[in-house]
Amino acid sequence: MVDRASFDKGLIDLAAAAGAEIAQRTEVTGFTPRGDLWQVETNRGMFPARKVIIADGALGKTAARAGFKKKYGLDGWAMAYEMPQTTPRNEMVVDLGILPYGYTWLFPKGPSLSIGVGVAKKHDDHRKIFDTLALFADRQGVPFDRAQCRGQRIALWGGNQPLTLKDSFLLAGEAAALVDPLNAEGIRPAIKSGMAAGEAVDAALAGDADAFLRYQRNMWTQLGREFAIATRIVRFFFLFPALSYHTALFHPRATSIMNEVFVGSLAYSAITDKVFAVLRKKILGIG
Ligand SMILES: Cc1cc2nc3c(=O)[nH]c(=O)nc-3n(C[C@H](O)[C@H](O)[C@H](O)COP(=O)(O)OP(=O)(O)OC[C@H]3O[C@@H](n4cnc5c(N)ncnc54)[C@H](O)[C@@H]3O)c2cc1C
Repeated sequence: MVDRASFDKGLIDLAAAAGAEIAQRTEVTGFTPRGDLWQVETNRGMFPARKVIIADGALGKTAARAGFKKKYGLDGWAMAYEMPQTTPRNEMVVDLGILPYGYTWLFPKGPSLSIGVGVAKKHDDHRKIFDTLALFADRQGVPFDRAQCRGQRIALWGGNQPLTLKDSFLLAGEAAALVDPLNAEGIRPAIKSGMAAGEAVDAALAGDADAFLRYQRNMWTQLGREFAIATRIVRFFFLFPALSYHTALFHPRATSIMNEVFVGSLAYSAITDKVFAVLRKKILGIG
């Protein structure tokens, strides 16, 4: 389980050690072309750049400022709080049946516990999300602390959209809606796309004219194709939530499959046919 504060600090330290200049509390406010460079405007002055990777997350405005047309991603929502572990627990708990299009989790993270809820759908009724989390916390025997809850929109993958513009800008991470619509996982795709975007910029600066389009193609095929399958699984699952839940829960390989998906060692494409065959057989009696 990832502790974001130390994970993010670790990334910053690695980047600094590799020679990156780190500018904290520096907000990008716009881009102005100047010769063959872009002046990146910020609240702390201008930074000249030939290529720009935009990775400002689900709520970022930078893609629009660069000229990307659409707001990326389908609406999801996640909310979580952390608390110290009083009685040490090592098991992770995921409850898929507690609310439509969503799940709750309890993740042990060393000395603390993360308790949260993710919903793969636009959700305006935040009171219901709080209530769901409170119910889940109660079932898990841990206190619920509404004041500690932090949540925000999640930009779930919504299909292939441009990830490059003007041969100068690349979108990565949640700014590109690279979030798994089934489990709302966005950290691994953000790392993967961030590294691929860095390599694409390197190649482009070295004269590779196809580097940005290749990046876009690779993200569509390596991540987007998997996310499209995940979307189909979510839709099918929540068409028949009770039966699907029952089927998933009692399938002998269900837990190990979910674990393998979570750690990234199993792709949806490798199990799609099997998943749909099992669900169809149990739910529709076909197969
Ligand atoms: C409650 C919750 C729990 C989650 N749990 C998990 C989980 O367990 N596992 C998982 O894989 N994913 C999880 N996610 C999703 C995951 O956090 C994101 O998908 C992931 O962090 C995306 O990484 P990113 O680098 O693209 O964007 P972010 O991590 O959102 O980082 C974007 C950064 O850009 C900065 N920024 C924004 N605008 C500007 C600007 N104009 N100028 C400069 N900087 C700017 C922001 O301040 C921020 O630091 C969770 C999300 C939420 C809300």
